[in-house]
Amino acid sequence: MLSAVFDFILPRFCPSCKNKLTLGENCICASCRNAFVYTDEKLLLNEYGRKFSESNIISDFYPLLVFEKSSSLQEIIHQIKYQKKFLLAVELGRMLGKTLSAKKPNWGIDLTIPVPLHSLKKAERGYNQSFYIAKGIRQVVNFPVSQSILKRKRYTESQTKKNLAERAENMTEAFSVRHADKIKGYNILLVDDVITTGATIKECGKILKASGAANIYAASIALAV
Ligand SMILES: [Zn+2]
Repeated sequence: MLSAVFDFILPRFCPSCKNKLTLGENCICASCRNAFVYTDEKLLLNEYGRKFSESNIISDFYPLLVFEKSSSLQEIIHQIKYQKKFLLAVELGRMLGKTLSAKKPNWGIDLTIPVPLHSLKKAERGYNQSFYIAKGIRQVVNFPVSQSILKRKRYTESQTKKNLAERAENMTEAFSVRHADKIKGYNILLVDDVITTGATIKECGKILKASGAANIYAASIALAV
């Protein structure tokens, strides 16, 4: 009743299609949610093989949705990254958390680490979107989240116009670990918004493992194929 009154006085809008949200719709409207393309087993197996299998660093990964150009998801991710819509990141994190707890209960996660932004980029954007995705996951599965262990020490150039080899080179030694004693023997979940080549995730995983973590898993809202 009260929510109906609030919706009348202060209508909420879907960030993607801009239609009014109806009672019971949370952050994203039902029709935009229905347009999401979910990843499936076959795609994940293929993509894991292409991105992670040869390096032996990432034990498994789970991106929730397929990233498609000009989709409702692209608009939503753009707003999360560039228009300070971090509550959307929390909502997508909750969706990801629900699926993770159903599909990957055997990961045995001890700690979640959002892929860090360089402090300059974080200051420029105002927040790290991956931290809010991790917060959404935590609301469902209760994995602790740390932002203080993994640091991005190099201000890397944008990855978007680079090819596979250039992206990997761009990421080399871009991260460092503080308080390695706090991750000894831990299974760590790395969280990112979109996994594209996997180069960022691999670099994060490499330094976490070298610092004593046991197994590294990765989850993201979307997978760019
Ligand atoms: Zn919509």
